[in-house]
Parts: sequence; C-alpha cells; structure tokens
Amino acid sequence: MKVLTLEVEKMMADSLAGEIFACHECDHFYYYELIPVGAKANCQHCGNLLYRHIPDSLNRSLALYFTALVLYLIANVFPFLSLELGGRVVENILFSSGWAMYELGMGELGVLIILTSILFPFIVIAGMLYLLIPARMGTVAPFMAQVYRIVNSIVPWSLVGVFMLGVLIAIVKLQDLANVITGPSLIALALLLVVYTAARASFDPHDLWSLTGHSSSGISSDDIANHKILNCHTCGFLSRHTGEHQNCLRCTSPLHHRKHNSIEATWALLAAACVLLIPANVYPVMTVIRFG
Ligand SMILES: [Zn+2]
Ligand SMILES: [Zn+2]
Ligand SMILES: [Zn+2]
Repeated sequence: MKVLTLEVEKMMADSLAGEIFACHECDHFYYYELIPVGAKANCQHCGNLLYRHIPDSLNRSLALYFTALVLYLIANVFPFLSLELGGRVVENILFSSGWAMYELGMGELGVLIILTSILFPFIVIAGMLYLLIPARMGTVAPFMAQVYRIVNSIVPWSLVGVFMLGVLIAIVKLQDLANVITGPSLIALALLLVVYTAARASFDPHDLWSLTGHSSSGISSDDIANHKILNCHTCGFLSRHTGEHQNCLRCTSPLHHRKHNSIEATWALLAAACVLLIPANVYPVMTVIRFG
C-alpha cells in the first residue's frame, strides 16, 4: 500500500515537473519542483503561498469530506437546542431557526442563516465529493470545471462558524429564562466545523487538474517576455492571450488581465468594513426581553 502511494505521488510529481506557472499575487513565473512532504513553496518576490506538498491529499480530503457529509446530516436532522419552560419542551432543528427568524419578521437574517449555515455548506461538501470520488478512481467527473468553479465561489460564504457563535450566545442569554438542553446536532455542528476546515486544508487542486491532461508546457519564454500570458485565477492554468474575451482551456473560467483599480477598490471596501466594525462591536448583538 505504501509503495502504491509512493508510485502515485511520483507519477503526479512527474506530471507536474517542469510545468510553468505564475504567482497569483504578483504574476512572477516559476517552474514546478518537487518539494518534501508537508513543505510549502512561497513566492520569492511577494511571499504568497504557491503550492504545498500535502501527503496522500486525495484519500485524506475524500475521507474528511465524507465525514463532513455524515456530520452535516446529523446536524440537520437532530435538534440542536431544546428549551424547557414550565414543563413544556420546545425542540429546534437547524432549519427551523432560520424559519423562526422569518416568522419573527427578521426574514433577511433567516435567509442569511439558511444560506450560510445550511445550503452553502451542503453545496461545498456535496460538490467536493462529486469531484473527488471519480478522481479517486482516476476519472474526470462530468462538468468538473463548472462544478469546481461553483464550489470555489461559494466557499467564502459557507460559514458554519457564524451560526455556532449565534447558538452559543443564545445559550448564555437564555439560561436564566429557560432550561436549555443541547442536542446531538450541536455536537455534530461543532465537529463539522473542525472536519470541514481540515477537509479544505488537505485538498490539493492538482489532484483534479492533473487528470485533465492539460499542461502549461507549451508556454515559451518568448510568450512570457511579450506579456502574452493570462493566469487563470481559478485553476492557475496559463493561456496565451489571443482575444478580448477568452476562457481558460482547463476550467472554463473567464480570463482577464489584472483588474484595473483593484487596489483602490480593495482600500474602499476595507474602509467600509472598518466603519461597520465600530457599531458591530459597540451595540449589543441581541437583546433578550424577559417575562415576569
Ligand atoms: Zn508573488
Ligand atoms: Zn481574476
Ligand atoms: Zn482555469
């Protein structure tokens, strides 16, 4: 088994060796080199992480995403919080909390909870399993590139942690009012948070892209010198600049030169975030109205 793993790793290293790629942050060009297990390659110019050598990443990420799916199902089927008030027990499942928000007139918050804590994590977990199971068998999943792009764009909005924080605040605040009983869903949710993060960290995109057979080896130093290369921001594949609206050959993402004024836009968003951070920290997160 160990020999087999080594062989697969050697094959992957061979398929990447000599492949040219560019740093996502500063567009500096590099050739792939095999680095030791657990090591990272960083850009010499801007320090950005270029790639890592994650041992057995395909099996590991597949196992972790499968565990995440099981935990996700437990988290959604069983109650996460039960409230006991005067002999009456109210059980809450994950979905009903979003629905309760809606019924209380906080529809936007309800939608936000359902999207970030229920729908988006499911799309990420199911999407990754859809890509990884065929990859484990050495085949490319149908519409791999499209599914990868959808999953990739949803990852930043899949925030199980936010919901956990909300639940913990609710537990602390509600304790004086009612007897709060935590359900199996809450434990599954906490475990999901850990497993999900580990699954993301152990995934190596090259496990998928190496199956497509596309390589950047056709890029010459002349192309690079003439600035005719577009760096795909989804999969890192390099393409020759041919037309105005070009898509990545490997993952079908639209290609573009560096965004104009992207630094100004980043500063504007950062400033807006700073302004919003002040009321978010000064005002109470929630107010509990006590009865009796
Ligand atoms: Zn760089
Ligand atoms: Zn881009
Ligand atoms: Zn691409």
